[in-house]
Amino acid sequence: MRDAQPAAVYLKDYASPDYLINRTELHFELHEDHALVTSRLYMLRCDPGRELPLVLNGVALELVSVTIDGQALEDSEFQVEPETLVIPKAPDQFVLSCVTRILPQDNTSLEGLYKSQRMFCTQCEAHGFRKITYYLDRPDVMSVFTVSVEADQARYPVLLSNGNLVDSKVLEDGRHSTTWHDPFPKPAYLFALVAGDLKYLQDSFTTCSGREVDLRIYVEEKDLGKCDHAMLSLQNSMRWDEEVYGREYDLDVFNIVAVDDFNMGAMENKSLNIFNSSCVLCSPETTTDKGYQRVEAIVAHEYFHNWSGNRVTCRDWFQLSLKEGFTVFRDAGFSADMGSPVVKRVEDVANLRTVQFAEDAGPMAHPVRPESVIEFNNFYTATIYEKGAEVVRMIHTLLGAELFRRGSDLYFERHDGQAVTCEDFVLAMEAASGIDLQQFRLWYSQAGTPLLRVRDEYDADAGCYTLTVQQSCPPTPGQDSKLPMVIPLAMGLLGEAGNLPLRLVGETPDPETGDNTHRVLSVNQAEQRFVFEGVGERPVPSLLRGLSAPVRLDYNYSKQDLCALMSRDDDGFVRWDSAQTLATRVMNEVEQQLLNRSKDKELEVDPILARAYASLLEDDSLDAAMVADMLTLPGENYLAELAARDGGANVDTIHAARVAVHADISKACTDSLLQRYHALANASPYAATGAQIADRSLRNTCLDYLAAAGGEYVELASRQFTDADNMTDRLAALRAIVFYGDDGQRDEALASFYQDWQHEVLVVNQWLQLQAMMPGSDALDRVRGLLKHPDFDMRNPNKVRALVGVFSAHNPVNFHRPDGQGYRFLADQLTLLNDINPQITAKMLTPLTRWRNYSGRDQLMRAELERLAALPSLSRDAFEVITKSLQ
Ligand SMILES: [Zn+2]
Repeated sequence: MRDAQPAAVYLKDYASPDYLINRTELHFELHEDHALVTSRLYMLRCDPGRELPLVLNGVALELVSVTIDGQALEDSEFQVEPETLVIPKAPDQFVLSCVTRILPQDNTSLEGLYKSQRMFCTQCEAHGFRKITYYLDRPDVMSVFTVSVEADQARYPVLLSNGNLVDSKVLEDGRHSTTWHDPFPKPAYLFALVAGDLKYLQDSFTTCSGREVDLRIYVEEKDLGKCDHAMLSLQNSMRWDEEVYGREYDLDVFNIVAVDDFNMGAMENKSLNIFNSSCVLCSPETTTDKGYQRVEAIVAHEYFHNWSGNRVTCRDWFQLSLKEGFTVFRDAGFSADMGSPVVKRVEDVANLRTVQFAEDAGPMAHPVRPESVIEFNNFYTATIYEKGAEVVRMIHTLLGAELFRRGSDLYFERHDGQAVTCEDFVLAMEAASGIDLQQFRLWYSQAGTPLLRVRDEYDADAGCYTLTVQQSCPPTPGQDSKLPMVIPLAMGLLGEAGNLPLRLVGETPDPETGDNTHRVLSVNQAEQRFVFEGVGERPVPSLLRGLSAPVRLDYNYSKQDLCALMSRDDDGFVRWDSAQTLATRVMNEVEQQLLNRSKDKELEVDPILARAYASLLEDDSLDAAMVADMLTLPGENYLAELAARDGGANVDTIHAARVAVHADISKACTDSLLQRYHALANASPYAATGAQIADRSLRNTCLDYLAAAGGEYVELASRQFTDADNMTDRLAALRAIVFYGDDGQRDEALASFYQDWQHEVLVVNQWLQLQAMMPGSDALDRVRGLLKHPDFDMRNPNKVRALVGVFSAHNPVNFHRPDGQGYRFLADQLTLLNDINPQITAKMLTPLTRWRNYSGRDQLMRAELERLAALPSLSRDAFEVITKSLQ
């Protein structure tokens, strides 16, 4: 909690540490009402000639004793400040030992050492370790850790830390202890400890050099049957990282522990990954297909950090994207290889455009490598992760797969065991490839989403086709003007009979690649022209294939152009993207009618969209998962984001227009929807295979359209709800019933679902989430009522996100009620949460920070932010988000 106005820290002020810690020995004594932590730090002054004060980080610690080389310090020899311990005089080399008393059972921030249900666990990234003991809590101080943990044996039979188990003892009074040693030097943020009554699933992996690794997933006994998918995902990840990146695992054990109360998805602590239970547990009865894919992706992500993050770590937290952007890029490659690359890309882009583009256009916009920060917890953002991954993806595009791999090999070889910067990553890529990335570096320092404006001209007589490309980037906080970036523009040209061969003027046709129909143009100036010759017909340009750069595209496609790309372009991503653009266009037209029409006039929906959808549905040679994605209308948040750039979003007309278009598709395509729905029914038992997931995805998309017509089609959903043998089909049916059924059907289905699944925490969270998204004017009352439900708990981040978070972020019409009650509701909850969990509070402020996008409601939204800003105990996390958004 703050005592004055929290101050910003700046990247430019980085200074290397004055002291290092070669070895760290920790002893934990865990009790029910407190824990005692004894540290022995083998310290060294970096510059032996200079006498500098030793400043250790520590927050919410009770210092019991402090010694140097075994000598207790006098009171005059140290100062305890709210967030530091200062020792003005220290020798060149010494052993510092501190005993601190902490209160894990009262630690609701879920940073440092805390209790989740009946177990102890830790979360130290970014600054959690300072809540455990006094330390140089910064990633460029790396140390070899030896950790012993002592606790009651009956309550906590399992005691874990990083590295290898080197000792275990039975002690007096029913207590026991274990000792762990991690030979790899690591920063404190990768420290982990777990104590609990846990069981484990065990398997193994043999690395490429033949070392046997013991793999364990620790969970509560009741969840032992839900670990198989995570185990398989771990083994697949280990193999993939050897094959694709040449990275072998380096210890004899790898442990994963599932925890119910966790601020993030999971944490890559060296050899002891701690996971939010929602990101590790899976069973067909309780987990949807999306849940299975999420578990696979997150297990892989955390595992991949062993190299990109742990062996090579970040010098400071401004470099967070060094490990996160690269690792997200790596896990996306893995997921693409495990399933369908195009479907994976489509899902990533949909998320990037909705979440990251919005962040880039909002008050918290920051570069991939930020320059100033008040609270680092606020920078675990879509920009650092997703845009960071896009930046690495562009390097991969510019270098090609082979040179990129050489670059990553060089990066790991040069920097193994070091704490480095984004610049070091780019330097390794340049050195290995010989490609100059000087201008490309702007992607790390410039915030905002660039806009590519493309215009074209066709000269039939000369057979010439010209693309004129202009780039610009809107101002963002602290950056008024931007320089042109390097934008790889992947493209093709579509003719009547398919994609055309591409040849730029002046190029000699290469006999090998003479019929090349795909290429990447390098855009690096404010305006550029690309002239293609030998073009025998006016083509439709297929632009920004695969979203080859995280930019927005402005090209005046006609609806016919979009239909042509949707049905015939070679690039699967462009086909999906064209479907999205066409649907957006049709919905915008309906929105205009809603704003301008006289009441009795019927809405007109252009039938072109339904016709295009029908032909997708009737073609069963297409990948079902792709068809499902193409049939999914852009979400209301994405539409609001687009509208905000054009002068302001009206959530009510956006919602009404989307509902009208959805209903129109439902009516116009009933026969083909019904036909596919029945044809895709699967009699074989559930498996999370690509083919089955694709079929279920399309079948449930069909159900969603059909049920919108009500009546017999809601009955169809009811039958699926009763008959389903898996959570994907059951939840899709429940959603159809509660969205489109009558009140009686809705209440009955929700009650019966709860009745059946109340013993499964993760399923109850999905039940909360669904209700938070429900339409209807009683939505807010329903959500308020659920706050009092015995299964809701303000201290559990998963539940807060499921109910309060989903309502504010994914129920736009009800959150943005004209009376401002939605805003008031969120601010009331965040007032309570601010005292419990600052990190989650700051994250959940996001919908309010977008007040500028909603003209007419903006004053109501601002008023709630101002009310929160006046809280006397406002955390540093929330302070930063609120002040930046009010500026
Ligand atoms: Zn990560």
